[in-house]
Amino acid sequence: MSLVVMKFGGSSLADADKIKHVAGRIIVKKKGGNKIVAVVSAPGNTTDDLIKMADKITCSPSFREMDVLLATGEMISIALLAMAIDTMGEKVISMTGAQAGILANEDYTHARIKKINSQKIYNQLAEDNIVIVAGFQALNPRGDVTTLGRGGSDLTAVALAAALKSDLCEIYSDVEGVYTTDPRVVKNAKKINYISYDEMLEMANSGSQVLQSRSIEVAKKFNVEIHSRSTFSENEGTIITNEEKVKEKEMESFLVSGIAFDKNQAKFTISILDTINVVLKIFSKFSEVNINIDMLSQFVLDKNNIISFIVNGNDVKKAWEELDKITLNCNASISCDEHIAKISIIGIGIKNHSFVAAKIFKILYRSGIVPNMVSISEIKMSCIVNESDVLKAVAELHKGFDLSKKANKGDLQ
Ligand code: ADP
Ligand code: ASP
Ligand code: MG
Repeated sequence: MSLVVMKFGGSSLADADKIKHVAGRIIVKKKGGNKIVAVVSAPGNTTDDLIKMADKITCSPSFREMDVLLATGEMISIALLAMAIDTMGEKVISMTGAQAGILANEDYTHARIKKINSQKIYNQLAEDNIVIVAGFQALNPRGDVTTLGRGGSDLTAVALAAALKSDLCEIYSDVEGVYTTDPRVVKNAKKINYISYDEMLEMANSGSQVLQSRSIEVAKKFNVEIHSRSTFSENEGTIITNEEKVKEKEMESFLVSGIAFDKNQAKFTISILDTINVVLKIFSKFSEVNINIDMLSQFVLDKNNIISFIVNGNDVKKAWEELDKITLNCNASISCDEHIAKISIIGIGIKNHSFVAAKIFKILYRSGIVPNMVSISEIKMSCIVNESDVLKAVAELHKGFDLSKKANKGDLQ
């Protein structure tokens, strides 16, 4: 008998019919002779709606209370799903993160899982229960509920799969797996059959929403193979696994696996006489207040130092506040362009292939798009373009790298 962790995202639980459908899928799996731990997200857009409600009450809510609020979303799902399964005649129990023994540190709103007391779930499985666990939440050392960062139910699922040594970790959503790019944006995007942890991590970090990046870090660390697949079809999805297995399974290796994009980015440009002190201050202050700088460039123009860098769109307000303080008496001029987007081209084949850069520039120039800032890492190349150009750029790069023709062994079977 196998132990299967099945995770269902908010889009799979958006209304009563969908919840009943998910209940049916869980029961089929149970009847296949498996023990089931199902992790669920809040229904539909519940988490966003809760954030909007809090915004209407205060612009600076306490992080502790924010976690109390957001954790309620997943509790709606566990209760309703357990009711649906019960109505269909199967033994079931719902558990909050705390009841399931998921312990985290004190970082409210982006807590890290420290330990899972697996016995609590094992006890319920031994009673032949289907166990439904609220994703995205844990208990901190103060006895408070904390949340694990947006998309955190994926992390709950992978962490439980590792702690319970499950045989399978399936993450169900409204798409059939991981595609060469967002299938809602490029219609001929192709489902990838096998992708390595490192590539998936870069995709997730670069804006591909389908899996949360921290869940991939944990999957890699504990060697949890993830099957990303659809709630609404029986088709096989994408296996996220180690690089060796990907190479073994792929019919031929491809330079590029996928293209991710993120419109929620902003570019700050600072023109100032003194750089060294200011750059140091910016870096140390930003790391103190948790603002990540993604790309950085610096040059001198007419004795002025021009520094540009990219931050996540959600950090713009915080970044302005800090920059205003740091440059208070420096006669600096600061601007922020929020109408930009980052495009990332990802693939283990990019390693040692510097001509990929030339190809990317050629495709973009031919389409009349001039990339602005560029960064290259081992398996990823990212560039900044105007927000209005992003969809065209993604479509042209997808075509230019022949991604709709990408085929794995699995396609031929
Ligand atoms: P869930 O609600 O199940 O957690 P998400 O909304 O978080 O699902 O993730 C699924 C969405 O991710 C899809 O609807 C799709 O639009 C988006 N997405 C972005 N990039 C990709 C990609 N490369 N492959 C598949 N889906 C992607
Ligand atoms: N409900 C949370 C969110 O919307 C967690 C999740 O969906 O994974 O971010
Ligand atoms: Mg998600």
